Amino acid sequence: MTSISTNLQAVNARIHAAARACGRGAEEVALLAVSKTWPAAAVREAAAAGQRAFGENYVQEGCAKAEELAGLGLEWHFIGPLQSNKTRPVAQCFDWVHSIDRLKIAERLSAQRDVHRPPLNVCIQVNVSGEDSKSGVAPEEAVALAHTVAALPRLRLRGLMCIPEPTDDAALLAARFGVLGVLRARLAGEGLELDTLSMGMSHDLEVAIAAGATIVRVGTAIFGARRPA
Ligand SMILES: *Cc1c(COP(=O)(O)O)cnc(C)c1O
Repeated sequence: MTSISTNLQAVNARIHAAARACGRGAEEVALLAVSKTWPAAAVREAAAAGQRAFGENYVQEGCAKAEELAGLGLEWHFIGPLQSNKTRPVAQCFDWVHSIDRLKIAERLSAQRDVHRPPLNVCIQVNVSGEDSKSGVAPEEAVALAHTVAALPRLRLRGLMCIPEPTDDAALLAARFGVLGVLRARLAGEGLELDTLSMGMSHDLEVAIAAGATIVRVGTAIFGARRPA
C-alpha cells in the first residue's frame, strides 16, 4: 500500500472518530484532499485509493491538473485567494470555489461560467479572526454578500468557508469555527438555507467537525509536508 492511500485511510478514520464523538454521522463530513504543489501523479494515486474531491490554491496549477486528469471524473475545488483577472479559467476548470470574498469576483464567475455546465458551487470566505487575517469578508458583511451572491444566475451558493489564524488553542479555534455556524443559522432564519461549512485542515479537523464542518480541507496529512514556496 502506498503512503498516500495509508494516509487517506488514517484521515478518514480521524473524520469518522470526530463525527462519532460529537454524535454526527461520518457521511455528513466530506474530505477535500488539498493537492496544491503536488504533481498530478499524487492526485492519481489518491484517486486510485477512492478520493474524489481535490482542492487547489493556484489557478494555473489547478487547471493543468484538472485538464490532465479529466478522464478520472474528479471534482475540483478552488480554495485560494482569487484575483478578478483570473476568474475566467477558474469558472472553466473548477466545480467549486470556496474563497468568494467580494461581489465583483462572484459576478465575474457567474458571467464567465459556461451555460452548458452546471452552476459553479461557491462558498463565501469569512474572516473569523479579525485583524489577524486579511482574507475573507467580515462576519457582519457576510450576510448581505450571501444574499446577493445567492441571486447570481450561474452560481449556486452552497455555504461558508473560513481559515482561522494558526493556533494550538482549541477553545479559540472552536470559537472561530463557531462564527460560521452562527452565520449559517442567521441566514437560514432569513430564508437562505446553506448546506456547507468548509472548515478544518490537517491539524484542526476534529475541532472543526465538532463545530459543524461539512467539508474538511486536508493537505499535509494526506500528501506530506509541502516544500516552502
Ligand atoms: C493549504 C490549505 C489547506 C490544507 O492545509 P493542511 O494544513 O496542509 O491540511 C486547507 N485550506 C486552504 C485554504 C489551504 O490553502
